[in-house]
Amino acid sequence: MSSDPTTTPATLDSGGGPLGDMPIDDFRAAGHRLVDWIADHVASAESRPVLSQVRPGAIREALPAAAPDAGEPFEQILDDFETTLVPGLTQWSHPRYFAYFPCGFSLPGTLADFLSTAMSQQAMLWRTSPAATELEETTLGWMRDALGLPAGWEGVIYDTASTGIVHALATAREAKVPAVRTAGLAAGGAPRLRIYASEHTHSSLDKAAITLGLGLDSVRRIAVDDQLAVRVEELAGAIAEDREAGWEPLAYVATIGTTAAGSSDRVDAVADVCEREALWLHVDCAYAGPAMLLPEHRAAFAGVERADTLILNPHKWLFVPFDCSVLYSPKMDLLRQAFALTPEYLRTAESGTVKNLMDTGFQLGRRFRALKLWTVLRTFGLDGIRARLREHIRLARLFADWIDADPRFVRAAPVGFSVVCFRAVPPVLAGDPAAEDAFTERLMNAANATGEVLFSHAKLGGRTVIRLAVGSLRTTEEDIARSYRLFGRLFDEIAAET
Ligand SMILES: *Cc1c(COP(=O)(O)O)cnc(C)c1O
Repeated sequence: MSSDPTTTPATLDSGGGPLGDMPIDDFRAAGHRLVDWIADHVASAESRPVLSQVRPGAIREALPAAAPDAGEPFEQILDDFETTLVPGLTQWSHPRYFAYFPCGFSLPGTLADFLSTAMSQQAMLWRTSPAATELEETTLGWMRDALGLPAGWEGVIYDTASTGIVHALATAREAKVPAVRTAGLAAGGAPRLRIYASEHTHSSLDKAAITLGLGLDSVRRIAVDDQLAVRVEELAGAIAEDREAGWEPLAYVATIGTTAAGSSDRVDAVADVCEREALWLHVDCAYAGPAMLLPEHRAAFAGVERADTLILNPHKWLFVPFDCSVLYSPKMDLLRQAFALTPEYLRTAESGTVKNLMDTGFQLGRRFRALKLWTVLRTFGLDGIRARLREHIRLARLFADWIDADPRFVRAAPVGFSVVCFRAVPPVLAGDPAAEDAFTERLMNAANATGEVLFSHAKLGGRTVIRLAVGSLRTTEEDIARSYRLFGRLFDEIAAET
């Protein structure tokens, strides 16, 4: 073997012999086997429980205590994955997964995520991935137009809505008290900033307040009305009261499609207050945002064009595998002003003429997430996506109709997009709220323990409710019917013991 660097090696394999990567032919064979395995796994989802039935610690105990010294074949790793880890997988893409919110899963999105990883793109600078940078811009432009958001808005992809709201509120802070970027909150007598939200606003707001150093006390929750929308007059009153007490009102975080019930603030009314009071308006439609594609649901989004920042998660209800969250803003330059900072080693000749995604937030490196969004939009088409969203909403309403017609249950909130909240009302408990709540919880736990379905709960008006959130591409009317029948059967069993 020559050590002369000018000679060409005799073989060009994947990674340079025994000290390199997996041989390319092994990769090919393992990859084919893996795709077959995934296809079988997806097709056989119903043979496994929706909620993982392992006890805490079981997975850890089944794993070796240390990494192997000698390398192991991929076959062995996949076998161990199947026997040891698959029992510990809660199946978010199961046809009867109805808990929390759906986690976008689709086969084209899966293929695209694999491809994205395989291309090893890190889109911090335009030059480190012109394709990822420009595809993100183009795809988010397509989506903005399809959602009916204003043409001037710019979008950026983050991992989650929790990351997005930190950026949104940091941008609000940049607008209100720009000195904080340099001097920090403590210096120079920065005012105590206040952020308003309804009782039902997602807890990522509170985490953002912690992260930004504003503190949990900066978040003031406003009561909701019987439609679970924020009481706008109470919001206005709270702002006046706070100004009086020396707070500086910063932002209102509106929600369209709340976590508990899929309910919505009336953004137009809230926007009036925000304009009058010079508050940043952030609209969180992490789950429900894709419903903007449906003309018959667009009214719920009236006023979103007045937002300063808006977030939706394609990884929830747009069939894009986790993670992929999009923040749109008419003020993206202000967001860049809040975050951009270029050390010498990241300076490039083309900055100024191109976008460097590292400027749009606190992270430097970025995955090529636009690829899966682009692939999903193209594979299903906007019409295909609309049809799927409509089907989920139809199924949710069907379930709600059955609940409404059944004296054993009451619906606890209007159907919010594809979310239905209900609780049990066993006559034997004679309307005792605490006993009914305990019964409802027991009913849900019993249903989940069958492994046939997975539901999660919420508190609405102090009462325990079971939530149905439809969003899996695999859910059919029969799945909804089967779940309803399961609740009926378990209700009767538990009531008989009560
Ligand atoms: C799910 C959700 C969030 C948080 O989403 P992540 O992407 O997991 O951070 C925030 N707000 C609403 C309304 C949500 O539904």
